[in-house]
Amino acid sequence: MARKSYEGRDVTVSFDPEVCQHSGTCVRGLAAVFDTGRSPWITPDGAGAEAVVAQVAKCPSGALRIEARPT
Ligand code: SF4
Repeated sequence: MARKSYEGRDVTVSFDPEVCQHSGTCVRGLAAVFDTGRSPWITPDGAGAEAVVAQVAKCPSGALRIEARPT
């Protein structure tokens, strides 16, 4: 299974590279969290949880997914 989870304090994001369309939407929209020049390339704590959730919702392919969110 290619999907990998990136756990943050308030929100956990998962990513499936086989589904990603490389649109760059995530990197352009929220570089503090999505930065392909960094490892790990997703750091969910780089921005507020609501901003992360909003950015993940804009992923056109469904490669990004919210696995856990603030209660
Ligand atoms: S927004 Fe989604 S499809 Fe586009 S690069 Fe990011 S993960 Fe891939």
